[in-house]
Amino acid sequence: MNSSSSSFSSTVATATSSILSTPPVILSPCAACKILRRRCVEKCVLAPYFPPTEPLKFTIAHRVFGASNIIKMLQELPEEQRADAVNSMVYEANARIRDPVYGCAGAICQLQKQISELQAEFAKAHAEIMNLKCQNSNLLALVCMEVSENSSSSSLLSSDHINDYGNNTSMFLEDNSVYAAWEPLWT
Ligand SMILES: [Zn+2]
Repeated sequence: MNSSSSSFSSTVATATSSILSTPPVILSPCAACKILRRRCVEKCVLAPYFPPTEPLKFTIAHRVFGASNIIKMLQELPEEQRADAVNSMVYEANARIRDPVYGCAGAICQLQKQISELQAEFAKAHAEIMNLKCQNSNLLALVCMEVSENSSSSSLLSSDHINDYGNNTSMFLEDNSVYAAWEPLWT
């Protein structure tokens, strides 16, 4: 079992390495180096995440965090987490520019307020439903009581009706006609 799983992971590894062997297209100079007016070196840590096609991404993150802090944070992270970290920093910087006092905490508070308002609305609607269900079952009980009172007075009549159907001979006649229709097939 161990060998099969390791061979599986090795095939996955070779597959991914073959994909990764074609280097990702990194346009040079990157947006960060262009804005910082410095030479974009081959192994620029910012280049994969700040392409020159999206200069605003770096401008916003740089304004709030500062280029040196962004570089420091990226260098401290493993490569597979860097793209997420950049997205998070850009999001936080955007929120901070929109709301200089609370930043993204302001958005979180707003959403929490919305949640509690909706929860209160939901509780109210739920109480209304329970109330209506209660009314409905009360009405149903009333209707049932009235029906049983009415049917007990006319129960004799309805049982006669059922006996009438049971003794009806026309059903047997119909059955015979059906057999007659089938007969030619069997001779
Ligand atoms: Zn660069």
